[in-house]
Amino acid sequence: MHTGYDCIVIGGGIIGLSCAYQVAKARKKVLVLERGDIGSGTSGACDHMILLQSKAPGLPLKLAMSSLEMYREWQNELDQDIEFATRGGMILIDKLEHLSIMEDFVSRQKSIGLNVEIVDKKELKKRQPWISDRVIASTYSPDDSQVNPFRVLFALVKAGARLGVEVVRNAEVVELKRKSEHWEVRIRSGESFFSQTIVIAAGVWSSEIAQLVDVNLPIRPKRGQIIVTESIDEIGETDAWDANYIISKHISHLERDELSKKLGLGFAMSRTHSGNYLIGSTREYVGFNRNTTYEAFQAITKRAVELFPIFSKVRIIRSFAGLRPACDDGKYIIGEDPSNPGFFIATGHEGDGIALAPITGKLISDLICGKSPTFDIDEISPARFRRERVSETSKR
Ligand SMILES: Cc1cc2nc3c(=O)[nH]c(=O)nc-3n(C[C@H](O)[C@H](O)[C@H](O)COP(=O)(O)OP(=O)(O)OC[C@H]3O[C@@H](n4cnc5c(N)ncnc54)[C@H](O)[C@@H]3O)c2cc1C
Repeated sequence: MHTGYDCIVIGGGIIGLSCAYQVAKARKKVLVLERGDIGSGTSGACDHMILLQSKAPGLPLKLAMSSLEMYREWQNELDQDIEFATRGGMILIDKLEHLSIMEDFVSRQKSIGLNVEIVDKKELKKRQPWISDRVIASTYSPDDSQVNPFRVLFALVKAGARLGVEVVRNAEVVELKRKSEHWEVRIRSGESFFSQTIVIAAGVWSSEIAQLVDVNLPIRPKRGQIIVTESIDEIGETDAWDANYIISKHISHLERDELSKKLGLGFAMSRTHSGNYLIGSTREYVGFNRNTTYEAFQAITKRAVELFPIFSKVRIIRSFAGLRPACDDGKYIIGEDPSNPGFFIATGHEGDGIALAPITGKLISDLICGKSPTFDIDEISPARFRRERVSETSKR
């Protein structure tokens, strides 16, 4: 039996480790329990973007902009190279009817303070000389950035250790009990740990853990498949995405062919520190299946060559799939559960968890320390599910 933690974080992915590090910075005694190894979940099978342009103009964009600033500080603070880089990003528009939709989206993002604009074909060609002629315009933001998620994970473990954070691997949480003033957390080996507060940061597995205290979290895994190219010279100045993806995510239903619809295909292309390109990605509800499929491989490469014909000459060296923790209402879940004092939740980041890890940890740390968070996070609080249940019951 172990006693006396201020906070136990369940899950050693990027969200859990950011929470652990930032709660420890507030002089709390922190333990992380991880079922497998660090990065064995989605944070070890994903892209690497701190992408601002994909965020809805509102709280998500504000959180992402704040997180980017924190990553800039983390470069020095964590005392490890996290391969932070700012290459900028472009969202490619290849259909005339998408241009006005993207113009409106961009102007709303600008009103939040994002440095972004629409550029014409001439300007686009200057920045992306290998782009296909079918692309008629694009957005451009110089601020979209990236990190190496693995490096961030291990930098957080090390920086956390300097502050006294303990990490136990192969520690699957199987039971949670509230005992008067504290929580008891039992792992599969039978050992128990005690803490004043708990943070659930178990990505797509968060619902299973919340169930242990009868809390329903509507999180479902959304598979994303990515292909990786050989290391090559830069093929353009910035990373790039497809307007299809942004439009279908935030704005309106898109007319698409059956396969793209089935796979939820949204082109994304970004260059790693080592010169490999990561090209993706799909958005599929296939349970916890992390296999890659030939169908997705074909669809991703077809779209890549449509937009950048030069990719037909580039070798693919591997592919992988990860599971995004997607909440049914499309929003993050960050905050304290209203029915369980001291039970905090940090999940539902879907395709934004790398970008939002720093700010999520800061919000959780502020809440645990009883401080008002810097942003009004009511819309992403777990309390919204209880409000929905209450209003459904009162309608009956
Ligand atoms: C293809 C793809 C591309 C992506 N690209 C980007 C991107 O470019 N930018 C971006 O911001 N985001 C991106 N994401 C999203 C991002 O990867 C996720 O939002 C993020 O990694 C989620 O982190 P997490 O810590 O919540 O979950 P995870 O990394 O899954 O961590 C949860 C941990 O909890 C552990 N766990 C589970 N159950 C238990 C238990 N009972 N006891 C103890 N531990 C347990 C698991 O083993 C796991 O290690 C992408 C995702 C995918 C799939």
